[in-house]
Parts: sequence; C-alpha cells; structure tokens
Amino acid sequence: MCKKKRNRLGMSGRNRTRSPYCGSSVVLRSADGIYRENKRDAKLYVCSKYPVCDAYARVQEGSKRIPIGSMADGELRALRIEAHRRFDRIHQTGLMSKKDAYTWLADVISSPMAHAHIGQLGKYYCKVVIEESNRFLDKYRDKVIWKNNGRGIRPLAAGGEQYAIEYGTAAAGH
Ligand SMILES: [Zn+2]
Repeated sequence: MCKKKRNRLGMSGRNRTRSPYCGSSVVLRSADGIYRENKRDAKLYVCSKYPVCDAYARVQEGSKRIPIGSMADGELRALRIEAHRRFDRIHQTGLMSKKDAYTWLADVISSPMAHAHIGQLGKYYCKVVIEESNRFLDKYRDKVIWKNNGRGIRPLAAGGEQYAIEYGTAAAGH
C-alpha cells in the first residue's frame, strides 16, 4: 500500500485543491442540489466539473473545512457505504468490541490505526474490507443470533456475551 503522506482530501502535495479523478479545481460549497435533501446544511468539497465529474468529500459537521474522508466518485462512495455496513456488523454482533474491530480493520488493510478509516479507502481496499468482513461473519455465524428488533434484522452475539476473538498479535497494545 502506498505510504506516501497525504493531506485530508487524499491528494498529495501541490495537487491538494484538485479533483483526484479529473484534475480540476475543487470548490467548498453547500450540499444543496447535490444531496437529495440537505436538512443538516452539510458542506462539501466538490469538483468544479460537477456533475460531469461527481467527486466530492463531505465536511465534518461543526467544522468549517475539515473533510471526513478523501474525495470520492459515486462508485467509491457506494463501496465505502457497503464496506462500512459489513464492517459495523462485526462489532454490532458483539463478536468484537468496536475498538477491537478497528484494530482488526487496520490489520485487514495493512494500515496503521490512525489511518484505519473507511472514508480514506480506495475501491480496492473497500472490496477487501467487504470480503474479509463477510468471511469473518461467516466464520462465527453459529455464535450470532439473528434477531428482529423491529427495525430490521440486527444480529446479536449468542447469550449477549462479548466474544473475545483471537486474530493474531494485532490486538496487542490496543
Ligand atoms: Zn473531477
């Protein structure tokens, strides 16, 4: 994996204000007209060629200009949502604590903990996270009770216990 230092928009060095897809400049603007609804008045870094190039990154709520992840096009955004959904199940099931799940994630993407954020991942690593999360959930399938809590199916660890899962030495120190 590329270890080159990147800024918060996922672009390196002098390209920091450029779209990683088309190289056009990036503008900080309201998500109005991009989000179907923008009730929370979100701000985005958007490629100036939008919608021809639909790359954008959302700004953290309560911050004026700190983006949450790197700029992503529609395909990458969909992959990140899917990767997050599968990954979240690992700790939602109680098979791991949230903290341990993030240690596991860092291991899966061969990245230091500080960079273990799905919002920073590219398409390849999103697919790795989806695959590995599915593999993990499959492996411990018999330890999970799939319960309908009225808001859809939510898995819970059998007996409500937290299962300590061994996954090598990556957990040491966290
Ligand atoms: Zn662009």
